[in-house]
Amino acid sequence: MTLIVQKFGGSSVADAKKIKAVAKRIIKIRKKGHQVVVVVSATGKTTDELLKFAAKIIDNPCKREMDMLLSAGEQISIALLSMAIKAKKYDAISLTGAQAGICTDSVHNKARITRIKTKKLKKELKKGRIVVVAGFQGISSGEDITTLGRGGSDLTAVALAVVLKAKVCEIYTDVAGVYTADPRIVKEAEKINYLSFDEMLEMAGLGTQVMQARSVEMAKKFNIDLHIRSTFLREKGTIVTREVSCMEDVVVSGIASDSDQVKISITKLPDRPGVAAQLFSELGEKDINVDMIIQSSARDGVNNISFTVSRTNLKKTLETMNKIKKKLGAKEVFYDAQVAKVSLIGVGMRSHSGVASKMFSILAAEKINIEMISTSEIRISCVIKEKNLTKAVRVLHKKFKLDQKLSKKNISTKKS
Ligand code: ASP
Ligand code: MG
Repeated sequence: MTLIVQKFGGSSVADAKKIKAVAKRIIKIRKKGHQVVVVVSATGKTTDELLKFAAKIIDNPCKREMDMLLSAGEQISIALLSMAIKAKKYDAISLTGAQAGICTDSVHNKARITRIKTKKLKKELKKGRIVVVAGFQGISSGEDITTLGRGGSDLTAVALAVVLKAKVCEIYTDVAGVYTADPRIVKEAEKINYLSFDEMLEMAGLGTQVMQARSVEMAKKFNIDLHIRSTFLREKGTIVTREVSCMEDVVVSGIASDSDQVKISITKLPDRPGVAAQLFSELGEKDINVDMIIQSSARDGVNNISFTVSRTNLKKTLETMNKIKKKLGAKEVFYDAQVAKVSLIGVGMRSHSGVASKMFSILAAEKINIEMISTSEIRISCVIKEKNLTKAVRVLHKKFKLDQKLSKKNISTKKS
């Protein structure tokens, strides 16, 4: 008997009708004779609403109490979903993270899973029950409820798939899979049938908010196939799997676009060892994630540094930067919130050259100025003006022929 882990996101369980549809979908798999572990997120916007609720009470709520509060969202979903399954005469049981044996460290709000005690899970599965586990939560050794960071239900699902040796971890969402570009921007965007873990990791970190990046890392580490698909459609979605050599035939698999970017610059920093270290460690201490960084070459003993952060961190970043400016005797701190990032992703870039220059030429032909560039082995990202983002994504999609069914549609993923 194979075991399948299915994860349903908040939009899939947003109301009673949807919860009933999800129950039906789960039962379909159960009927085929599979064991099923279901991981579910808080319904709709519950987590955001709980966050806002707390903000009305206190500015900086205690992290332990925040976890207590946020974990309630998932607890509602598991109970409702189990009821919906039982209403259809199938046996189900809901389990909180703690009941499911998900042990974490004690870093509230972004805890790491340290181990999973599978005894209870296995016992319930043996009874033939569908086990419905609350995503995004666990319990620390001090027996406090912890949460795993936003989007953490994905991590719960992958971790359970790993320890229970599931055949596949299905991620059900409100889109049909991962697309070659954001379909709201490019109407010709196509669903990608197969992606490698590395490509998915790049996409997850680049504003393609289909899956939490940490969960993809875990899937890669333990080689668990992910199947990202729609809750409301029958068709297959995107399978994320180990890289096979023919994946490299496709140079660019997809384009990610991210307008949640702001560029911060600091000018006339002293050019001496330790300055960048101090700057970025102070930002790190404030939990500010820095994305692209550019340092200009030094002149007259000073240089300039620019970097990008998420817009939600703008205020915090400026406060920190102004302190650093005084401390280090830099000249000026300024920002540009009208920027966006466009990225090309593809494992084929490892073996094909000329992708960067082609990307730059395409943008140049459209008179789109590139403000920052960063690359990895399988990605090229450019920061451009936000007003040019739509145009850039569309033209890159076209010129890299992502609209022609060349993408990884026909790749076989037979594991080598
Ligand atoms: N409910 C949590 C969140 O909104 C976890 C999740 O959805 O995966 O971030
Ligand atoms: Mg989610």
